[in-house]
Amino acid sequence: MPLDFDKRTFTFSYSKVRLTTINGRIDIPIEIPEYYNKYLDWNYQTARLIYDKRKDQTYLHITFSRDFNKVENNGEIIGIDLGINNIAVTSNKQFYNSNKIKQIKSKFRYLRSRLQSKGTKSSKRLLKKISGREKRFMRQCNHEISKEIISPLNPGDTVILEKLNGIRKIKGNKKQRYWLNSWSYYQLQKFIQYKAELKGIKVNYVNPRNTSKICSKCLSLNTKRNKSCFECLNCNYKLNADLNASYNLKLSGKNLLEKDLPKVLITKAAVNQPCIPSVDCKAILWN
Ligand SMILES: [Zn+2]
Repeated sequence: MPLDFDKRTFTFSYSKVRLTTINGRIDIPIEIPEYYNKYLDWNYQTARLIYDKRKDQTYLHITFSRDFNKVENNGEIIGIDLGINNIAVTSNKQFYNSNKIKQIKSKFRYLRSRLQSKGTKSSKRLLKKISGREKRFMRQCNHEISKEIISPLNPGDTVILEKLNGIRKIKGNKKQRYWLNSWSYYQLQKFIQYKAELKGIKVNYVNPRNTSKICSKCLSLNTKRNKSCFECLNCNYKLNADLNASYNLKLSGKNLLEKDLPKVLITKAAVNQPCIPSVDCKAILWN
């Protein structure tokens, strides 16, 4: 079980760290490899104490931060939509597919339900072990996804994310709700944020209201979704639904002063029409 420390419970200096434990404060001498010397004038923030059973070694991971306010935010604005079919889609047309992760998560879920139904002492122990393993798996995925999202961006760019209010309310079916609730979106956002800020990229959060319903081309709400396909019934724009949402986030990033999406044009009520994915939509999907 990793232990987390913050500025109240640990202090850092060049030669030692001081941790506050239930038995009082302890000083631990440390040696910093030369490579990390460049971070020593940054501010330390939090620390995580981890014990590696296999190596029988204890590690202390310390995070450092620096103010990047001097960087001018005159670069590109990138909207990032977090969803079910795709974990993340950026307005730069980067898609992070969730199929493989879903498969692995399903295995965890299956194992959990089997162990829960057993209810013995040993199954409970195993259950704990598995949930720890699942958490580490998700953490690793979130690290990799956030790293890939940020790596092509430049200092001065601005990333727009959805403001998540606790567990996101979604009207989807049970399976979709399971995915949204169990996926650690909050963690993914935090990883994106700290990796962005490290690079001098600003992060802004906007109200996600209607981001998946508005047409990013004509701003009409007269739209429909069919699985991953978005169609505007006003201007006939068709594209991947998550990509449309990321375009809308980008738009609301541009309108940040109003803290919301630009005024929506409401046209005729929706007409029931079959959604025919255009070639354009497919091309984006399989790119
Ligand atoms: Zn439209």
